[in-house]
Amino acid sequence: MKVKFFTPTREYQEKKLEFDKAVLGLMERGVSMLGKEVTDFEESVKEFTGAKYAIGVASGTDGLVMASDILGFKEGTEVITSPFTFLASSSCIAKNGAKPVFVDIDEETFSIDATKIEEKITKDTVGIIPIHLFSQMGDMDKIMDIASRHNLRVLEDSAESFGMRWKGNGSDYKHAGTIGDFGVFSFFPTKTLGAYGDAGMIVTNDDNLANLAKIYRVHGASRKYHYDFIGYNSRLDSMQAAILQVKIKYINDAIENRDRIAKLYKDRLQDCEFIKIPAIKGNQKPVYYVFNILAERRDELSEYLKANEIGTSIYYPIPLHLQKCFEYLGYKKGDFPVAERIAENVMALPIYPEITEEEVEFVCETIKKFYKK
Ligand SMILES: *Cc1c(COP(=O)(O)O)cnc(C)c1O
Repeated sequence: MKVKFFTPTREYQEKKLEFDKAVLGLMERGVSMLGKEVTDFEESVKEFTGAKYAIGVASGTDGLVMASDILGFKEGTEVITSPFTFLASSSCIAKNGAKPVFVDIDEETFSIDATKIEEKITKDTVGIIPIHLFSQMGDMDKIMDIASRHNLRVLEDSAESFGMRWKGNGSDYKHAGTIGDFGVFSFFPTKTLGAYGDAGMIVTNDDNLANLAKIYRVHGASRKYHYDFIGYNSRLDSMQAAILQVKIKYINDAIENRDRIAKLYKDRLQDCEFIKIPAIKGNQKPVYYVFNILAERRDELSEYLKANEIGTSIYYPIPLHLQKCFEYLGYKKGDFPVAERIAENVMALPIYPEITEEEVEFVCETIKKFYKK
């Protein structure tokens, strides 16, 4: 049995008529830049997440760079974040001339360890970028408390966390991305809500920040040909918006299916002593964008699964403090032991709403077979 790590084709076949209608309808209506397709989808994201404003942009990466720019993460400032993430979570800081300052991660959530943030705050610190990875959010209660006491801006890298909700000590569940000053979603094809190409969204509850984000995505123009800032050309593509508008209708089903698959994995793998499954920590509602295990002899297991035609992935094999592009920050191996250890053991198993239970059973049996060898 062949099990792909990710495939968009099953979903396309299931909803072919709707997708075709969305894409062809756009072509029949003509070319559209930031037109109805985009505003409709922005409305849907606002409605789903509860954010006051949603601004469609070209990708999650662009959203992070623009949000960092607007929040003043610039030359001479420092921004605290985690080294265990995708490059874009930190390159957005460096691209604007600010200095990324890393803090090790929490063993369970794989997000920044909020208990270690305050010791890294200096007179130059202006912000924190928490990153909600894989299935759960970081401790937003602690992070928002630190931010308010030290007057720091919070940019939530919510690229992977569409639909995740945090309650913490609060009275309601709040969506990832809607707690800090800005949140940024990615609709990269593999993400929980994925397009058929690059797409992203900035969300905020702040009138002024929303206005700036709208201006920054069109070259810094407050009105056509009136440039108040040096901005970007980073609009959400109408074709992707039309596709996403179809998919967001089914987002709750997709999240439930991911949850069902995650439960099945947990059930079948719980008695395997060579594997640890990260626990969900804190009062929150997870969304399984990625299903990770921490595996002994990870690289051998990954080869074995590949030989058995099972796709897996490793997020992230090298923490950012050990990447060549960040050599200038002066970090070395051993600086962030939790991130480094997790990078050596973590492995993502196939999970998507259309994966069958037989396929999941096969993945689990093959893993167990490997450890019995
Ligand atoms: C996917 C991702 C991004 C980048 O999003 P793109 O839409 O691919 O540019 C940023 N941060 C994290 C944590 C991601 O997983």
